[in-house]
Amino acid sequence: MTSNVQHLISVSGGKDSTAVYLMALESGRPFRAVFADTGNEHELTLEYLARLPERTGGPKIETVRADFTLQLARHREYVLREWPKQGIPDQVVQEAAALHEPTGNPFLDLCISKGRFPSRMAQFCTGELKEIPITTQVVGPMLKGGPVLQWLGIRAEESANRAMQPRFNRHESGSMVWRPIFRWELAQVWKQHSRHRLAPNPLYAMGMGRVGCMPCINCRKSELRSIADRFPDHIDRIERWENVVSAANKRRSATFFPAVTDPTDAERPGTYSRIRTLIEWSRTTRGGRQFGMFFDEQPGGGCSSDLGLCEVAS
Ligand code: SF4
Repeated sequence: MTSNVQHLISVSGGKDSTAVYLMALESGRPFRAVFADTGNEHELTLEYLARLPERTGGPKIETVRADFTLQLARHREYVLREWPKQGIPDQVVQEAAALHEPTGNPFLDLCISKGRFPSRMAQFCTGELKEIPITTQVVGPMLKGGPVLQWLGIRAEESANRAMQPRFNRHESGSMVWRPIFRWELAQVWKQHSRHRLAPNPLYAMGMGRVGCMPCINCRKSELRSIADRFPDHIDRIERWENVVSAANKRRSATFFPAVTDPTDAERPGTYSRIRTLIEWSRTTRGGRQFGMFFDEQPGGGCSSDLGLCEVAS
């Protein structure tokens, strides 16, 4: 790497990317730090990131947010043009079209424009809400000034998927990607915080296994229960989002977690997996076999992003 390399640290408010931010500080190199706000973040994470520079002496965190104004407008046109041809009642068409106004919340706007929530099988959230805004709003402009090295807080022990990633690679944006704590164990991450006398994001002390979307579509049963117990307002918000996204698509149903077909509940397709039902289930020790199959398959994360911008649960 030549000396005109520009360094960029992607931070999420989680422990691993914070450790990398601290490592970059220790290196003495000038660097920039960026955070992609999905609109589904916890307020404690936003506050933690806002105060990170003053607590560490590091650079301010630049925040990017995806904008789906164009996608919403295009999809509204499609709804108004094509749905009537498909026999969708006019009242449904008009209600859905009216909901295609930007709310300013990237996560919600993305889901309205897609007519659904992301899922493990269709995990478009990481790319649309994190990778693309960081790449287009920060990395692209930086590349005009010379090479860019992105430092990522990814550790091999987080998941089998992450263990297969290289320490260095070239990203399709043209930047180089480096995973400087790839071989670190969790204890080293905490030690890095201690060395800088920096308390981790308080969400960890509140029992959250990961810091990121609240909740993440990849969350586990125990995480969902903790979120519902500690942060009921966030569950209320997801319930409101389910109502909005349902009214904005022609199926008239959308659930934050994938719809699961329960053979005993066949008369309520598309409603059984709503967030309230999942919360009730998360408080059971047994039962809910169909949900268990889905959540138990979550290998503590499931984020397959090349840039690893979503934290994996520990
Ligand atoms: S994978 Fe989870 S944390 Fe990442 S953007 Fe999607 S919902 Fe948010």
